[in-house]
Amino acid sequence: ASTSYSALEDKNVKKGRRVPLSIGLKSKRILVTGGAGFVGSHLVDRLIERGDSVIVVDNFFTGRKENVMHHIEVDEIYHLACPASPVHYKFNPVKTIKTNVVGTLNMLGLAKRVGARFLLTSTSEVYGDPLQHPQAETYWGNVNPIGVRSCYDEGKRTAETLTMDYHRGAGIEVRIARIFNTYGPRMCIDDGRVVSNFVAQALRKEPLTVYGDGKQTRSFQYVSDLVEGLMRLMEGEHVGPFNLGNPGEFTMLELAQVVQETIDPNAKIEFRPNTEDDPHKRKPDISKAKELLGWQPSVSLREGLPLMVSDFKQRLFGDSKAKGA
Ligand code: UDP
Repeated sequence: ASTSYSALEDKNVKKGRRVPLSIGLKSKRILVTGGAGFVGSHLVDRLIERGDSVIVVDNFFTGRKENVMHHIEVDEIYHLACPASPVHYKFNPVKTIKTNVVGTLNMLGLAKRVGARFLLTSTSEVYGDPLQHPQAETYWGNVNPIGVRSCYDEGKRTAETLTMDYHRGAGIEVRIARIFNTYGPRMCIDDGRVVSNFVAQALRKEPLTVYGDGKQTRSFQYVSDLVEGLMRLMEGEHVGPFNLGNPGEFTMLELAQVVQETIDPNAKIEFRPNTEDDPHKRKPDISKAKELLGWQPSVSLREGLPLMVSDFKQRLFGDSKAKGA
C-alpha cells in the first residue's frame, strides 16, 4: 500500500495530480465502507480531523458504480459495512451473509486492484458460545453453523478466511479486528442491542427488558476506545486478528443496575424469553493488542454511559441542555 508520502507523491505526480502540501506528509485517501453507520461515522470524524481525505460507501449510495470507479483509488480501506445488531442482521439473513462474503470479496478485490491496505472489522461472535473464557485470539470458537446467528458469525468467519487468503495468495496488506460489544453516542435508538435498549427504556420510563435469567455476560466498550484501536491496528505492523474490547465484564442484570444508577433508580426490570443461541458469556483477552498495538480501553462503562445518555436524551426529547445523565 502507498503508505509513505513518497509513494503517494510518485503515484500522484505520474497521474498528473497536484499533491496539496498543506495537508501534511501523512495525509491519505481512505475508503470506509459503512462510514455513515455508528462506528463508521466516529471513525470518519477522527480520520478527517487527522487531515485525511475520506470516501464513504454506504447504502445511501445511489447511481452507478462505473460512474465513480475512477475516483476510487485509496491507500487504506476500513471495511465496516454490515448490520451488527442481532435484530438487524437476523432481519434478512441472506443479505447479511452476502454482505459479509460477497461484500468482503468485492472490497478485497478493490484493495488488490489499487494496492490498498485492507482492514476487516470482524467480531467477537466468531467465538460463538465460547468454551474458553476470556477469549484469546488463539481460540477457534464454538459456533453453530446452521443457527439463526450463523449469517453473521459464520459470515464474519468466512470474511476472515477471505482476508487471509487474499493476504497469503495475492500479497494484500491486511488487518483483522475482532470487535466486542460497543456502545456510545449515535447508536440507533431502536438498534435492539442491550445497552441502547436499556438506555432508551429508562429514558422513556419503560421497564428494562432483561432476556433470559440475565446472568449471561458481555463486556462493553466505549466507541472512542474502539476507534483508537482500529486506527492503531491499521497503522501498525501486525495483521492480527486482534480482539478490540473492554475486559470489564457485566451480567445483564448488573448492566441494568448501572443503567438504573445512571438514569433512574426506579426503573423497573421485566424478564423476557431469551433469543436462540445467545452466547452465555463474552470477555476479551486483550493481551495481544496491549503488547503489539500498545492499546487498551480507557473509558469505563460508568464513564461512557452518561455520554450516550446525553445523546439519547437529545435525540428522544430534543433536550439541548441535557449534558449529563
Ligand atoms: N439483551 C437483553 N435485553 C435486551 C437486549 C439484549 O437482556 O433488551 C441481552 C441478550 O440476550 C444478550 C446480551 O443482552 O445476552 C447482549 O445482546 P446484544 O443484542 O446487545 O448483543 P450480542 O452480544 O448478543 O451481539
